[in-house]
Amino acid sequence: MNLFRIKVAEPHGFCSGVRRALTVTERALTGVRPVYLLHDLVHNRAVSEHLLRKGAVIVDSLEAVPDGAAVVTSAHGVSAEIVAEIGSRDLQWIDATCPIVQRIHEKCSAVKDGALVILIGHRGHPETAGTLGQHPGMIHLVERAEDVAKLPDRLPGQEVRVLTQTTLSGSELAAPLAAVHCRYGECTGGDCRCYATTERQEAVKTLAKECDRIFIVGSGRSSNSCRLREVAESSGVMAYLVEEPAEFDISLLENCRVAGVSSGASVPEKQLETLIDILEKNGGCR
Ligand code: SF4
Repeated sequence: MNLFRIKVAEPHGFCSGVRRALTVTERALTGVRPVYLLHDLVHNRAVSEHLLRKGAVIVDSLEAVPDGAAVVTSAHGVSAEIVAEIGSRDLQWIDATCPIVQRIHEKCSAVKDGALVILIGHRGHPETAGTLGQHPGMIHLVERAEDVAKLPDRLPGQEVRVLTQTTLSGSELAAPLAAVHCRYGECTGGDCRCYATTERQEAVKTLAKECDRIFIVGSGRSSNSCRLREVAESSGVMAYLVEEPAEFDISLLENCRVAGVSSGASVPEKQLETLIDILEKNGGCR
């Protein structure tokens, strides 16, 4: 058996936004109303299964939620249209939006004062959809630096406000942000990546210097987990996303000397412990 060291990135795992979303949802599940989650609360299968066991129902649209129920919207935040639809019906809204995302939503209101508001993020990600949906059709999405050329010109005296998805990596953000500043010069707003994203990415970068393999526990649908793997890989280490720790492929440990492990902001600690147990049974020691 190949013997190797195991090193754990700190911090890793649950962030405060995910903890808060879980707490408000679990509290709702102790109430009298049936609880419906509009999409997964966070991108983690174990978290969803835990909430399903406690009685939550996960739905893809508000049409599937009966009147009188409580409806939980996810930590990623939702559009103004969804908030309005909930308000127009006999539903109790449990808002699990992370406070950091809420602050980004508030900053979008500059469009009402005539600002050109630009969001750097990934099209289709729920957080991006929720932020764009604060003022539908009025916020400009930039995914790559090339997109900046397609944006409208700044009107005389107009504020240009740039906002970002919270879970981008520094390298993903750098080129689009530089392109925005190159085109418009001075802008308000700026890098909105959250502490949980930047701290976990820095920890993985540091860990990568001592390891020849990095394993990130997290879902392929979880933006922050995918970014952790990319950050490790761009540091020159073989890096893998481990979606199901119990099904870990031990052939990935071949010739490994030092294995680094971390987990995304929506991953319960138990899943990381499962991976560490498997590594220990296969030659790893801490
Ligand atoms: Fe909030 Fe950041 Fe956690 Fe998302 S990753 S829930 S923005 S703290």
